Amino acid sequence: MAYSDQTMPASKQKEEMIHLCSYVAGKPVHSSKKLEVINPYDNTIVGTVSITGREHVEEAVSAALNGYQPMSRYERFSVLDKARHLLAERREEFAHLITAESGLCIRESMYETGRSSDVLHFAAIEALHDDGEIFSCDISPNGKARKIFTVREPLSLIVAITPFNHPLNQVVHKLAPAIAAGAPLILKPSEKTPLTAIKFAEVLYEAGLPPYMLSVLLGETSEVAEPLVRHPKAELVSFTGSVAIGKHIAGIAGYKKLVLELGGNAPLIIMDDADLDTAVYLAAEGAFRNSGQRCTAVKRILVSEAILDAFTEKFTEKAAEYTCGDPSDPETRVGTVIDEPAAMYLEDVMNKAVAQGARVLLGGNRHGALIEPTVISNVPRDAQMVVQESFGPLAPILSFKDIDDAINLANSTSFGLSSGVVTNQMDVALRFVRELKTGTVNINEVPGYRIEKSPFGGRKDSGLGVKEGVIEAIKSFTFVKTFSLPWG
Ligand code: NAD
Repeated sequence: MAYSDQTMPASKQKEEMIHLCSYVAGKPVHSSKKLEVINPYDNTIVGTVSITGREHVEEAVSAALNGYQPMSRYERFSVLDKARHLLAERREEFAHLITAESGLCIRESMYETGRSSDVLHFAAIEALHDDGEIFSCDISPNGKARKIFTVREPLSLIVAITPFNHPLNQVVHKLAPAIAAGAPLILKPSEKTPLTAIKFAEVLYEAGLPPYMLSVLLGETSEVAEPLVRHPKAELVSFTGSVAIGKHIAGIAGYKKLVLELGGNAPLIIMDDADLDTAVYLAAEGAFRNSGQRCTAVKRILVSEAILDAFTEKFTEKAAEYTCGDPSDPETRVGTVIDEPAAMYLEDVMNKAVAQGARVLLGGNRHGALIEPTVISNVPRDAQMVVQESFGPLAPILSFKDIDDAINLANSTSFGLSSGVVTNQMDVALRFVRELKTGTVNINEVPGYRIEKSPFGGRKDSGLGVKEGVIEAIKSFTFVKTFSLPWG
């Protein structure tokens, strides 16, 4: 990704290169300043986006506020449902675009498009549900013969900022609930993966979304993202991304609602009674899927000392099945990370862990933005690669003595997004459910398991506890008004 005023050398262009624009309320913004999006695997230019400046922020805000017309529930349902059909028809096209701009392998990109269809489906259904509550008031000596009713009104303007790691699904998780709620939204997608986001916005316009409901702006952070976050007319900022930027946004946003979905450092805890094949499978899927670039990816494999050797041997064999290479090859299971600097960071934290006594049992090599799925044992508890978030296909193994030690170790970082536990003992499972300080505890599943409408989100540095997932996001994007009537 690079901002440029120049045309690129012909040798670097690909035939299928696409040129897209930012959109202000459905109108394409043409400008001479372009953002180039680079394929992290082969360094070709995938496409360009004409970018916007501060004046477009004001235009987009005015368009959302002045153009507003309430959409009926049926209209909101219809847009979401039509978009779901359009996305299904173009599934391959979207998957190839995700792979080209992010380096995620094509099988992950296909999976992501399916998840995004689920989000649209669930949001369409929610748009049809009435969400009011009724409170009878004659329920105490202080009561009256009245009833109180609740209605949810859409917020007047939402700002949404998304990360690169699920170029489509992160975007759909903001846009679909906003449409279901009837709330206008301005999206600032990741500058590393903007093409998928803009293509999806075009799908929504084609599905009949009124233009004032959505603008998509890309530009320098100081010109677009920060003015949007600070804008006094924005009633909510919904941000998914890193802890550092999330906390910065919390500092500059001012008086408005905030939804912050930040980094993770999920443990998979493997108890001594665990079914070893299940544990090995979950550890590998959790650590390597999506090139390890999921906020809920397994970042720490915590294994009972009693089964450490047996687990490590089997896991290393399993990890070797995760072939890495050309992301567009259907046989590839692990594509690149987002760019070469990200891969170099991962290499650096690996080297630091090795200097502290860790041993690389498999992988460990880097080729450009490609990092081999890597199994590392004897990782010290204070190694940077496990204390901070390592956003890549690294699988560090740490051991624990007993359940108290496992809980302390799992809770020892500043993150609190998700966790997984492999055990067949119900009392053990329930103790983890009670004592792990994470937004999710999945028993005999990867930490990342969810459905798109269940509540999702972390605590501590992973988030303020305001959840996402289709239903919770719709709640965030609306304001509850009560009214009361005499009743009898
Ligand atoms: P990032 O924080 O670098 O960027 C996220 C977005 O913020 C991008 O669109 C970026 O342009 C924008 N941004 C950058 N500086 C900004 C500023 N000063 N003001 C406003 N916006 C700004 O994150 P990333 O590298 O794109 O994504 C990876 C991170 O996202 C990881 O930490 C991962 O765990 C996290 N993540 C969290 C969840 C979750 O649900 N908790 C989901 C996916 C990813």
